Amino acid sequence: MSDERSDDRPADTRPATDVPVLSVENVTAGYGETTVLRDISLSMDEGEVVSLVGRNGAGKTTTLRTINGILHPTSGSVVYRGEDVSTLGPAETAQRGISLVPEERQIFPELTVMENLRLADHGGADDVESMAIGEALEMFENLKDRTGNPGSSLSGGEQQMLAIARALVAGADLMLLDEPTEGLAPYIVQDVMDIVAELDERGITVLLVEQNVHVALELADRNYVIDRGEIVWEGSSADLEDNEAILDRYLGVSV
Ligand code: ATP
Repeated sequence: MSDERSDDRPADTRPATDVPVLSVENVTAGYGETTVLRDISLSMDEGEVVSLVGRNGAGKTTTLRTINGILHPTSGSVVYRGEDVSTLGPAETAQRGISLVPEERQIFPELTVMENLRLADHGGADDVESMAIGEALEMFENLKDRTGNPGSSLSGGEQQMLAIARALVAGADLMLLDEPTEGLAPYIVQDVMDIVAELDERGITVLLVEQNVHVALELADRNYVIDRGEIVWEGSSADLEDNEAILDRYLGVSV
């Protein structure tokens, strides 16, 4: 085995690719007096799709909120591309390229698709389709045809697409997707999965929170299982698929 990645090499001589995109280090966090996450650690390399799966209330959304700065760790740290971002708020983490697409999708229903995209496009003028918007629309055929329609006229799946498109236009480098397939019809689930696969192809690093373990297994390179605020298992999709005990105990599914 090569010793090139030896841990005792000084950090400043490592090639840039050795620095994880995201490193959550021994984070404890919660809401006021309520501790939800207990000493969790996870790490993501450039271009990886990693899933975070677990039952309702396990702490998945809380993990995403702690990464993007809506919540702050009470101990431990969140490190993004080598910078400790634990004390930054969501606007500051967004500037750095961390983009949370929340479960509620958070589009502006009264604005058109194009207006929704323009609001996310900090570098673009108000009245033109910028390159970022043009590129994003190439990925979303169904939005391309409906740029003048109000957000409220979109289906649940299309709203999910628009929320992801907004994150792309805003320059997401690390995308945090909170249950993107939640509540969608099975054929739309496949469309959303195709989009996540395309994000992967474009080299965007994706942390995917999913209730649907089948979706996570198909899309993710690696998976973390969270239970009651603790990471209880980590491994490849092939290993998770074979691990009936973990699937049954923490995810309540058989694959
Ligand atoms: P789900 O799939 O149901 O969204 P989850 O794994 O994303 O589950 P979280 O939303 O992170 O779970 O919730 C973890 C715990 O934190 C739960 O016990 C929940 O009740 C609690 N919690 C969530 N939001 C708040 C809040 N704003 N204030 C206090 N407790 C909260």
